[in-house]
Amino acid sequence: MFLPPLPSRPVSEAPPILVRGGRVIDPLRGFDAVGDVLLRGERVERISATPLPTTGLRVIDADGCLVCPGLIDPHVHLREPGGERKETIRTGSEAAIAGGFSMVACMPNTQPALDLPSLVDFVRLKAAEAGLARVRVVAAATVGREGERLAPMGAMARAGAVAFSDDGDGIASAMVMRRVLATCRSIDRPFLQHCQEATLTHEAVMNEGPLAAKLGLGGWPAVAEEIMFERDVRLNASIGCRYHAQHLSSAGSVEILRRAKAAGQPVSGEASPHHLLLTDAACDGWNTIAKVNPPLRTGADAEALRKAVVDGTIEVLATDHAPHTASEKGRDFSAAPFGCIGLESAVGMYGLALVKSGLMDWTSVIERMTVGPARLLGLLEAGFGRLFEGGPADVSVIDPDAAWKVEASNFRSRSRNSPFDGWTAHGRPVAVITQGRAFDLRTEWWRGAGAP
Ligand SMILES: [Zn+2]
Repeated sequence: MFLPPLPSRPVSEAPPILVRGGRVIDPLRGFDAVGDVLLRGERVERISATPLPTTGLRVIDADGCLVCPGLIDPHVHLREPGGERKETIRTGSEAAIAGGFSMVACMPNTQPALDLPSLVDFVRLKAAEAGLARVRVVAAATVGREGERLAPMGAMARAGAVAFSDDGDGIASAMVMRRVLATCRSIDRPFLQHCQEATLTHEAVMNEGPLAAKLGLGGWPAVAEEIMFERDVRLNASIGCRYHAQHLSSAGSVEILRRAKAAGQPVSGEASPHHLLLTDAACDGWNTIAKVNPPLRTGADAEALRKAVVDGTIEVLATDHAPHTASEKGRDFSAAPFGCIGLESAVGMYGLALVKSGLMDWTSVIERMTVGPARLLGLLEAGFGRLFEGGPADVSVIDPDAAWKVEASNFRSRSRNSPFDGWTAHGRPVAVITQGRAFDLRTEWWRGAGAP
């Protein structure tokens, strides 16, 4: 689907935006009250318990909705450069807006990998040109993501990289890993690890277990994730870099995270909707849409992950939005690529897994989609992940009780590989304001702020 170009209108000329009559929530300071939020340019001007005048304002009706800090997805794959058939920076940031996110952080496993300052610039310029969600760059820690030589991390941090990762692969060499952690520590950036000990996952395509055996597919043991996570925690003990384990999949990993945090290490962990809601049973019938990395595991693993999100051991919810074309996912299971898309179903799927199930309230879910990611990426101090007068005008509006059917065919993403297609979601994003523009997802949102 191709949409008409958005009007390029300077922020200063756009009318101020009034988000009217919602339940305003700022999880970090425990703020929770019904009221109006007035946004002028790129700042929150006022949060008022009494209704504000609407003359000359673009009004977003938030009656019955949650008005919260702009949601941040710290783990997406925008595929550009090199994978534009799957997604582009523009279509990916459109998908982010459609999913209720004001900001995403993109991973460096593009072609070429984001391992130079010029490539960090490229992504930032493309994102600015699209003018949709804010895009922050997670740059490669090693040249070509090959795990051998360190990339120019300091120069990339100066170019705007907010974090480092070789996502798609774990860094195999303990010596290289140690140097990466020390470098991240010295330039004050977090390292985001894709925990996968590759010698244990040779030809592995789904969770090791009876179903993999039945389907005749290579099994991927949980210990492949856990052993690298454990190694890194030990390496980092004497370094103290901000270390983040991406897309955790196993109960064992939750235990490692819990122990490291109890020992006072600056460690965080992340969960994705598919690991909370699905098990390896979704792979039955050689269903390639359920082929993800790390793989979907057992019901006990999913339960341990949900518990860890509830008790705060896992502070960050992400999607690992990983677009692939229909023809790639149409290959046989062993040959199809890993990954599923998630941006446009995330709010509703987290609502289903955590709120409708009675495990959590929306405020806590929102905290893990705002405060957690902002803290991880070092953006909390700049006011992201929060909602307060004077802070950035990044706001998401969510209808907390909306039950709606996920229809991948209507997604803004260029890809359709959603394991939740046809599911009934709980909670729906209805508006996003970011970079001075308002997108009302219920109406003519593609016209953007300032449209007559
Ligand atoms: Zn990964």
